[in-house]
Amino acid sequence: MGINVALDGPSGAGKSTIAKRIAEKLKFVYVDTGALYRSIAYSVISQGIDPADKDKVTAALPDMSIELAYRGGAQHVLVSGEDVSDKIRTPEISMGASKVSAMPEVRAFLFDLQRDIARKNDIIMDGRDIGTVVLPEADVKIFLTASAEERANRRYKELREKGDPSTYEEVLADINQRDYNDIHRDISPLRKADDAVEVDSTSMTLDEVIEHIAGIINDRAGKAKTQKKTDGERKERKPLLDFSEVEPVKRGRKLNPVLLFFYNLLRFIVIGMLKLWFNLKFEGKENIPKDGSNIFASNHRSYLDPVLICLPTRIPNTFMAKEELFRTNKFFVWLIKLFGAFPVSRGKGDMGAINMSFEKLNSGRNLVIFPEGTRSHDGKVGRGKTGVALIAAVAQCPVIPVGINFEGKLRFRRKIVVRFGKPISPEQLKVTTPGPKELKLLRTTIMDSIIELVH
Ligand code: C5P
Repeated sequence: MGINVALDGPSGAGKSTIAKRIAEKLKFVYVDTGALYRSIAYSVISQGIDPADKDKVTAALPDMSIELAYRGGAQHVLVSGEDVSDKIRTPEISMGASKVSAMPEVRAFLFDLQRDIARKNDIIMDGRDIGTVVLPEADVKIFLTASAEERANRRYKELREKGDPSTYEEVLADINQRDYNDIHRDISPLRKADDAVEVDSTSMTLDEVIEHIAGIINDRAGKAKTQKKTDGERKERKPLLDFSEVEPVKRGRKLNPVLLFFYNLLRFIVIGMLKLWFNLKFEGKENIPKDGSNIFASNHRSYLDPVLICLPTRIPNTFMAKEELFRTNKFFVWLIKLFGAFPVSRGKGDMGAINMSFEKLNSGRNLVIFPEGTRSHDGKVGRGKTGVALIAAVAQCPVIPVGINFEGKLRFRRKIVVRFGKPISPEQLKVTTPGPKELKLLRTTIMDSIIELVH
């Protein structure tokens, strides 16, 4: 657990400017949670959905992938792989964010993502409910306020510099409306945590506020840091992934021969058993690399799919599996872990799972991903999330597309054809950085190849 600083307060109190400067000063990671709500608003508005339409917004969430990436220390938000960091700062998106943030489903959707970052890093996180709901155990809590007029004045100047035509009266009305929405919503309303220090910045300069808050953090976090070091907790900390650069995996790692022996023995036994029951065929086996550290990206039809992909691969695979499966019975959890499954929170840009994927690939094992994130009941291949492209681009690993085909329902002697396509190499596609355009190209190439293999 890193040192966590929660910075809450109403719109326009200067939280982001202050948090950014303090993060630089103290070498903390700055997490702007407002940007996450803004990204959801951006995503729904660009799909033509009214951000106040709860049913439609909620229905759009499962297909949404929101990720935070850090480039040169600055936070970037990726919505389905597209960097939207600049596009979410308009008055329309601000009001949209205010509306979607009142929906419990939206708040739940972002909860794990925020907690996960805080668990692994020294962070300063700004928002409305960080000290009260997201990180109630934060080491330092600050509640930053200023009068509505002063906040409107600051925001008005900022918008004018950007060439925005809004008048002061409009900006003030907007701030008052957003304050009202934030304070009066049923879920996680804007409220000072009981143990937060309140800082009123109305008559302070920016430098004075920064100095004052940095002082409070240094004092409180210093004590917490010493305590955590003593507790040995900080040893668990993993560095935040910087997705701006590639970090090719080192190929050719030798796997434990005992693991290989038992895995292959089991493989032959299971192939034999399944062939008795199903009319099972594998096509394109020549496309499966002989060494490890490859990604298999497949369509998802049934719970049998992970097994079907393992059967013709001589190197043991690992899988991202939905975290709900790890909350079932103990024996089942033990079994899926034995076969290399690790949990992923779907749709939340789970950085822990992404980090784990790199670890598995670096250990010489393969990684199986179902980019659609969920099983398809009608056999159609869905859009696919960006995670697979992100991992392949950063790790510079080949992706082997897989098409799983069932003829009819999974009954006795039904035909199952598993097709392996030609490996897709990020290098050959000239994906040498994990930028949004590159990720889009990689994702569409992977999904198109899977679609071709499903027929
Ligand atoms: O801070 P910012 O203005 O970027 O936040 C955008 C909107 O997201 C706010 O109007 C607020 O309603 C919402 N928000 C929230 N909880 C957070 C952060 C932002 O409800 N932790």
